[in-house]
Amino acid sequence: MSIEYFKQKYGYEVEGIWMPRVTAITSLTSRPFFGASYRSADWGNEVHSAVEKILKGEAKDSQEKIEPTLVAFEKWRKEYDVQIVSPADIELRVYDFENGYAGTIDMVAEVQGKRGIIDLKTGNSIRSEHSLQTVAYLNAYNKGATKKLQAQARWILRIDQYEECKGCLAKKSEKSGKERISEGNEYCNHQWSFARGETEFVELEDTQEDLRAFLAAKEVWEWYHRAALKKVANYPKNSMQKVLI
Ligand SMILES: [Zn+2]
Repeated sequence: MSIEYFKQKYGYEVEGIWMPRVTAITSLTSRPFFGASYRSADWGNEVHSAVEKILKGEAKDSQEKIEPTLVAFEKWRKEYDVQIVSPADIELRVYDFENGYAGTIDMVAEVQGKRGIIDLKTGNSIRSEHSLQTVAYLNAYNKGATKKLQAQARWILRIDQYEECKGCLAKKSEKSGKERISEGNEYCNHQWSFARGETEFVELEDTQEDLRAFLAAKEVWEWYHRAALKKVANYPKNSMQKVLI
């Protein structure tokens, strides 16, 4: 792998400094067990860009496939009185020069009057690595935000959609050509309903504990990629030294 490819694959350049991406770091802690990551990246990207358009009030393309997900998103937004203060708070790039990492926050929002960051997930479950991701975003965001705009909370919004069997209540997800059936009775001759969306909205606690774990994960990531990182001339020296000592 060339160094240019490595830099592009794993990080961002901000003001001439290259920093690894939060998701590159936390992917080291993910466990690819059955069902954990069956949702394709394409599906996630499609939902993210449609949600971004909705939040920015832009005309959305007709996307029948993900419509149940978008309906669930709108319902959640009303139910929790979610307010986006500025369009800049959508898909916001943040970075922490001191600890040497960068990332993109899906949205910074006020939820029932409380300001925080929200990460949107389109898989079938919330996983522990998401705690590390969101704490990294929260920490980087607050380092760059004025006192008035500090985020008080971090949330995960998970939106999924599935068809349900009218007989045995099995669930079928069909995303980007992959079909997955869970629960229910395997001998049932399933009769599927129309796809419907579901949301799960969770506030994450234990910020200090999660941040320590994220920074530790970052050190492991740096160790794992130490040979390549030595060749990245514009990677912040201070965080490299921590690894090399
Ligand atoms: Zn059935």
